[in-house]
Amino acid sequence: MTKIAFIGLGIMGSPMSVHLARAGHEVRGFNRTPDKVQPLVDAGGRAATSIADAVEGADVVALMLPDSPDVREVLAGEAGVFAHARPGALIIDFSSIRPDVTVELAEQAKQAQLRLLDAPVSGGQAGARAAELSIMVGGAEKDFAEAKPLLDVVGKTVVHVGPTGSGQTVKAANQLMVAGHIELLAEAIVFLEAYGVDTAAALTVLAGGLAGSKVLEQKRENMLTRSFDPGFRIALHHKDMGIVSDAAREAGVIIPVGALVAQLMASAKALGDGDLDHSALLKGVERLSGRS
Ligand code: NAP
Repeated sequence: MTKIAFIGLGIMGSPMSVHLARAGHEVRGFNRTPDKVQPLVDAGGRAATSIADAVEGADVVALMLPDSPDVREVLAGEAGVFAHARPGALIIDFSSIRPDVTVELAEQAKQAQLRLLDAPVSGGQAGARAAELSIMVGGAEKDFAEAKPLLDVVGKTVVHVGPTGSGQTVKAANQLMVAGHIELLAEAIVFLEAYGVDTAAALTVLAGGLAGSKVLEQKRENMLTRSFDPGFRIALHHKDMGIVSDAAREAGVIIPVGALVAQLMASAKALGDGDLDHSALLKGVERLSGRS
């Protein structure tokens, strides 16, 4: 049994913390908006009143927060983890943030006698609920080995991909691919509908061929029924397109299709769709064709 502090109990963090509690670990959860801690409490966890309360005596501190500034604030802020965690504790950051910020925070963690793994995830809300996430982990090999039994509780494909920041780099590539897949699926759906094809039947046959994908499996229903409750918010995917665009530029790598999809994601946010699921890229395709 491991004493775990879990900070950030949103769409992803909540089911992940619940799985850890159900697996028999002692989980203390903290969320800025307190009522989101209830599912964890129902699963046998405890509601913490502050970050300090959550991390007191914890062996592992898990984070699942939206963006780099949030992780920086929760870790390095005055009332944050670095100031209150016990020396030697292992921080597992499941959030998707900038790789360079991860490297900087891992260095600060070291100075506070703490260790940090970047462990962003893929698989969406469905993957978090089913404990079937893909987890791409950056950091020291021995820290990964220590974290692996916990990561296996929430994930199905758990891979150490290199030193600190590598997990975030792999996640950036993941987000580039997912955004492109969703945009092309959306374009195919609008195209099929324009011809009056039975779109559900069409997607069934496409799913069985080379065009089949997890994106198609997981997002087809949302798109066919125009149900865009998140899931994964456009605002977060916009953040991730910024991360991959900056990182590619830094490395001198040209990603023309990625750049276009990043613009379309930005447009969706600018037009007020930021809190919808990323499958709502479909709305943008419809707008472009005068079909909204
Ligand atoms: P979410 O539902 O918005 O949850 C984020 C949580 O962080 C909320 O509980 C929020 O608290 C808390 N929070 C936000 N800013 C904070 C701050 N400055 N200080 C303390 N707490 C703060 O987001 P999510 O969908 O779970 O995503 C979390 C991370 O996972 C993101 O990096 C995202 O890119 C990544 N991710 C998401 C998915 C997905 O399908 N959703 C899939 C893979 C990866 P409040 O309740 O008070 O707002």
